[in-house]
Amino acid sequence: MSSHFYSVKVQGVVQGVGFRPFVYRLAEEFSLTGSVRNTGKGVLINLVCTTIELSDFIRSLKKHHLPLAKISSLTWKLLPQTKHFDIFSIEDSSVIDSQLTTQIPPDSAICHDCLLELTDPANRRHNYPFINCTNCGPRFSIIESLPYDRPNTSMKSFPLCEQCTTEYHDPKNRRFHAQPIGCWTCGPSLSWHTRHGNMIKSKNHIAAAIKTLQQGKIVAIKGLGGFHLAVDATKHTAISRLRQRKGRKSKPLAIMVRDLKTAHKFSKINKSEEKLLCSNRAPIVLLKKKAPTVLPENLAPAVAEIGIMLPYTPLHHLLFSNDITALVMTSGNQTGEPICIDNDDALFKLNGIADFFLLHDRDIVTRLDDSLLRFAAGKARILRRSRGYIPEPILIQKNSESLLACGASEKNTFCLTKGQHAIVSQHIGELNTPTSLDFYKESLDHLIKIHKISPKAVCYDLHPDYLSSRYGKNLPMPGSAIQHHHAHAAAVMGEHAIKGPVISVIFDGTGLGPDRTIWGGEILYTTDNSYERLAHIAQMLLPSGDGAAKKPWMMAQGMLWKISNNTAICEKLIARHFPEISNSESSFLLQMLSKNINCPKTSSCGRLFDGVAALIGQRMINEYEGQAAMELEALAWAAIGNQEPIHIIKNTKGYQCKVNIKGSTQLLDITSLIQAIISDKKRGIAKEIIALKFHIWLISIVVKILWTIRQELGQLPIILAGGCMQNRLLLEGLYALLNEHNFTVFAGEKIPMNDAGISFGQAVIGGSRNVSCHTHAGH
Ligand code: ZN
Ligand code: ZN
Ligand code: FE
Repeated sequence: MSSHFYSVKVQGVVQGVGFRPFVYRLAEEFSLTGSVRNTGKGVLINLVCTTIELSDFIRSLKKHHLPLAKISSLTWKLLPQTKHFDIFSIEDSSVIDSQLTTQIPPDSAICHDCLLELTDPANRRHNYPFINCTNCGPRFSIIESLPYDRPNTSMKSFPLCEQCTTEYHDPKNRRFHAQPIGCWTCGPSLSWHTRHGNMIKSKNHIAAAIKTLQQGKIVAIKGLGGFHLAVDATKHTAISRLRQRKGRKSKPLAIMVRDLKTAHKFSKINKSEEKLLCSNRAPIVLLKKKAPTVLPENLAPAVAEIGIMLPYTPLHHLLFSNDITALVMTSGNQTGEPICIDNDDALFKLNGIADFFLLHDRDIVTRLDDSLLRFAAGKARILRRSRGYIPEPILIQKNSESLLACGASEKNTFCLTKGQHAIVSQHIGELNTPTSLDFYKESLDHLIKIHKISPKAVCYDLHPDYLSSRYGKNLPMPGSAIQHHHAHAAAVMGEHAIKGPVISVIFDGTGLGPDRTIWGGEILYTTDNSYERLAHIAQMLLPSGDGAAKKPWMMAQGMLWKISNNTAICEKLIARHFPEISNSESSFLLQMLSKNINCPKTSSCGRLFDGVAALIGQRMINEYEGQAAMELEALAWAAIGNQEPIHIIKNTKGYQCKVNIKGSTQLLDITSLIQAIISDKKRGIAKEIIALKFHIWLISIVVKILWTIRQELGQLPIILAGGCMQNRLLLEGLYALLNEHNFTVFAGEKIPMNDAGISFGQAVIGGSRNVSCHTHAGH
């Protein structure tokens, strides 16, 4: 058979991941001549071969085992042969075209080969804290611009030594064209400092850090995407000091443990969770605590889960080489501020918290927190998408003009679209301070620059006071305001490529509705560009608006007002149920309620959880966002114990599911719910049981309403979204019961169901609305 000249184009994550050497080895194996090079659009392979050889070659190419590579498209064409090849060669990539479609790989945990070298005394990189190769190490966090070459990364200040240069140029070496490599001679190095920034001389900085941690001290450690504050996670007093200094009273702290075996000691882990923990994305995974736990109670008080991750950088592995089994590794930031990435900034901002600093001299270009996931209803569901995931694009259906979607206010992210790719930013966090807005703008500029995107339109939340909405509105381009819960639904629809119509159940904290009341417990008829409210949680008064989100007791007193609607009766109820709240505070609140001053109406599910948690005496004040709801869930799990949860949900008598009709809208009646809870409380029913019955009530009433909607509108897919769907009992209960009634159910997996998913949802809606053709429009 005669040979032809073929050109094969491969796109996806194919640069900086060892793709060209892989192609080179494959061509050698097949004894083919030709060449391979990087282009602005991916990798281009020229091959002289027969048709059969070509198809075998392509088949092997697709079966690659490169841990960081991902092929999104592969095309080939037959060309007239204009060039002669004696061998197969790797060509330099000099021409970069302006339409950059190459994808940048996310940062990756250390690979197995590097780990072996790290611990091999005979290897020249033995114990080198920055060892990496083509298959692992920093990527997005060190990239300043594209193309991805060393001079465009923060490794530019470390010229390669002779030995590293040889490895870099050898196509057979694992470090061929690996941009971030280095060694003891030429690469980045550690330094050890007092809290005042003074350098401490020591023979072994890591040994010094370990010793300090073992003494219960707090060490700020510069990592891959930012600083961590570390303490020995087995020491109660060390954790207390960290909490006190960071002003973080009871919010759960994530831990990094030595290895998988240690993780099993502290938590119950199934096979899928194991796989996720050990993946090269190395996220924090929320796992069921083992009781009685060997870990101190103050790590994650009153909640059912603990966040665990495994060491993911060589430095982490070295820290665990001695007697340390578990470290608290919390973000190195001041409360409400983004994570520190710069040495001087960290020394300035964290010196009131850390006792010592373990620094290094490789700059972090992009701030990335640790990502956070949990398994629920059989799927890994991301809660915070950052290191290891960003900037991987999410595929969207509609190919519209490039858009910027500004996101929400809490757990903010933004999203940029280009063709069918949506690039969601890393976790920005709460967007309510000038520093967080700076972080927002800095990340936006960076993503726009490296992906060469110029947005033609902007989408933002309907809430005019969010900093993200204000930012979007002021941009000189057409814009569209998008209702918060419509965006929550669209995020799930976009991820699963569903155009709609669907019925979406959005259980959330708060979001502004088009009627200017606060929504958050909604059942919507939804398409990718419209929605209609079919049902919602009956409205309650939200005393002092946002203030009630921090004080569940205020919400509970608002609920007592709802069932009494009478000052004298309500006063009695408050005195009976809230003896711990001072008279003056309660009577002030009662005045607000009775005169309806600063008491917006809300249908929020999050606030309902808050109110119930306070009413049963579990939590009066939220020390962190979502605390009351998380504790209420933990109580319900405690009532379930070791029994099969779905069996319990089906066979326990919950509260009466009463639905009221108002016009064409169904209302989830909460008056009868509150009365029933009060009566249970009076009868001395344990709060664990009340919490369980409340969850069962919510699950059952949703199923009941969806059933009636199906009678009227026919069978439509069901979408579950919103911050409350992070409640595993609620999500799994809904899945189980809805599946049993033959509903098809979808919820967020790759995109968070909390407000971090709002930007992606806005982008999906914006794309289908063709926002770029309009001027600033309403919802
Ligand atoms: Zn490696
Ligand atoms: Zn070197
Ligand atoms: Fe929300």
